[in-house]
Amino acid sequence: MKVSLASALGTCFGVEDAINLAMEPQFNNDLTIVGQLVHNKQVNESLKKNGVSLVNGIHELDKIKTRKVMITAHGAADRVKKKLTDAGLVVFDASCPLVMRVHKTIKGMVEKNYFPVVIGQEDHAEVKGIVGDLDEYVVVKDESDLPKLRETGKRKFGIVVQTTQQVENVEALVEKIMEMDCVEEVNFVNTICQPTRDRQIAVLNLTEKADLMIVVGGYNSSNTKKLVHVCEQKNIASHHIESETQLKREWFVNRKHVGITAGTSTPEFVINKVHKAIMVIADELNALEKNQAVSS
Ligand code: SF4
Repeated sequence: MKVSLASALGTCFGVEDAINLAMEPQFNNDLTIVGQLVHNKQVNESLKKNGVSLVNGIHELDKIKTRKVMITAHGAADRVKKKLTDAGLVVFDASCPLVMRVHKTIKGMVEKNYFPVVIGQEDHAEVKGIVGDLDEYVVVKDESDLPKLRETGKRKFGIVVQTTQQVENVEALVEKIMEMDCVEEVNFVNTICQPTRDRQIAVLNLTEKADLMIVVGGYNSSNTKKLVHVCEQKNIASHHIESETQLKREWFVNRKHVGITAGTSTPEFVINKVHKAIMVIADELNALEKNQAVSS
């Protein structure tokens, strides 16, 4: 059994920069992160160990006991940032520049009279941040949401995308929007970020060779789930795990080539532990196979 790591996997620069900022000694137990910095349990646990407090979002403003707060890599609406400063808090902004590019793009579209549309998950922190300063908008998750565009009564739409969406799905959805009879003009900027694209391309390449994929990342991580989806679309057996403790030996029996990938919020140390544990299983299964070949 061969084991390969995807050529691009794990934490992106946006998440790494945010974690590094939160860990800076300057905060000295005086920092609360507003929302999940990354969708990863292990990272959140190590932040807590370092004296960083966490609240789920601006709705938990009254739970913030520190003077300093941090906006996560997912970004936040200007209205949210203002609410925090109005409450007398010092705001540190770890918004990823690629998320901020989406905010800027959609605001520019609104100025040019396009009705704003975001392709993504309405309940995701990034999408909440993107639409948080807009007076009207539509969020489209899949085809079932397309009638919402008709209901706006508008004909010119400006479309951006949550940075972690799946490229093919988004392109197919935009084509469907363009075909709608109520749509006169579409201004589409594909804002899926490069690290997300790189991970999706790498997983596609690996599914050409592997007969089993292990996808590592938080169960609530949007881009990790997209990687699982890519494997499913390619009909490759896959398992989504958060840590090496969930690996099961029987998954690997009679497999020829195992691929490992991980979402943009999965830290290197988690991937390394998974890789190491799979190598142990691979060595054991390969030795077993060799012995059986000798004795037969
Ligand atoms: S996934 Fe993309 S947009 Fe999100 S933090 Fe990482 S680099 Fe930035």
